[in-house]
Amino acid sequence: MRNLVLLGGGYGNMRILLRLLPNHLPENVHITLIDRVPYHCLKTEYYALAAGTVSDHDIRVPFPEHPRLTYCFGEVVRIDLDACTVLLHDGTTVAYDDLVIGLGCEDKYHNVPGAEQFTHSIQSIEKSRVTYQTLSNLPPQSTVGIVGAGLSGVELASELAESRPDLHVMLFDRGERILPMFPERLSQYVETWFHEHGISIVRHSNITKVEEGILYNHDEPIHCDAIVWTAGIQPSRVVRELNVEKDGQGRVILTNQHHIPEYENVYVVGDCASLPYSPSAQLAEGQAEQIVQVLQSRWRGEEPPNEFPPIKLKGILGSLGKKHGFGLVADRPLTGRVPRLLKSGVLWMYKYHNGY
Ligand SMILES: Cc1cc2nc3c(=O)[nH]c(=O)nc-3n(C[C@H](O)[C@H](O)[C@H](O)COP(=O)(O)OP(=O)(O)OC[C@H]3O[C@@H](n4cnc5c(N)ncnc54)[C@H](O)[C@@H]3O)c2cc1C
Repeated sequence: MRNLVLLGGGYGNMRILLRLLPNHLPENVHITLIDRVPYHCLKTEYYALAAGTVSDHDIRVPFPEHPRLTYCFGEVVRIDLDACTVLLHDGTTVAYDDLVIGLGCEDKYHNVPGAEQFTHSIQSIEKSRVTYQTLSNLPPQSTVGIVGAGLSGVELASELAESRPDLHVMLFDRGERILPMFPERLSQYVETWFHEHGISIVRHSNITKVEEGILYNHDEPIHCDAIVWTAGIQPSRVVRELNVEKDGQGRVILTNQHHIPEYENVYVVGDCASLPYSPSAQLAEGQAEQIVQVLQSRWRGEEPPNEFPPIKLKGILGSLGKKHGFGLVADRPLTGRVPRLLKSGVLWMYKYHNGY
């Protein structure tokens, strides 16, 4: 039996399972999926979990079952690429013939002193739960500082403003306008929504230090009862520690077939992979489709395709609470209720296709 080991049951590896099971897994291939949690987590909804507007149960999807699929639940601590083994925190070693690394990403703190220690996170389900507890337990009129006005910072700020209108939410960002990756019209729409919902935007900010309950913006102390960091990501530590070539963001540089150049049997999917687009769930899924083709060709003893067409991305949708949203679909900016409905529809379809 050939053992395909999938590290991380996130968006990338779930798509690999979806394509290989139930009928496309060769008889001589077994799959072992390793994750620290025993269900697939919908990371794109962590902002809502943290804000207290969805339940934990709503953002978990059971992993699929199959006679040739086994699970190993534990913390991956190291990958030995030469010995073809994965080491778990409890000392278990898992051997692989083929490996797909899909361990996702973590917060990046840009060496800001105190940031890791004194801020909350929405990058993992465990941390999002802690953030939820802290935000829910805040007394009325407390101030919440959110650092970073990209998609996840904006979604968290708006969801929190709806969930706890008694809080004062401050969103700190380096730039002149929030959501710099979107057309200016969309940023303006979101800023107006923020203004109407009492969210303050602190532009041109530079967080130089964080202490318990204090954010230092350009070295000026600002009192915050809770601080959430959404100002940058980097691949999982396990991937950062791999002795292979990486790009400027620490993501693994891959061949056209998505494997590590020196290791034909080791693929990297999603946020840990160096790809020509910003990391996203959609991108992880698109890349996973191509990895499945490569695996299937190699299992048949055939050469995989030399090149793949560019991964098709449908657009980005963001929410502003439960009723409004914004997005860029087929390069068309959308604002209001339609993108919010589309976003809910995409989530529903995702859960449906993954057997929720
Ligand atoms: C708040 C927020 C909103 C987002 N919104 C969108 C959106 O609207 N659209 C979009 O396309 N993308 C969105 N993203 C980005 C998207 O969630 C990621 O790009 C996507 O999850 C990456 O998929 P992945 O397969 O690489 O890893 P993930 O989905 O992150 O999965 C990684 C898996 O690995 C496991 N794991 C990690 N480390 C270990 C370890 N050491 N040992 C064992 N298991 C481990 C985790 O438990 C997890 O199951 C959002 C992200 C956030 C935080």
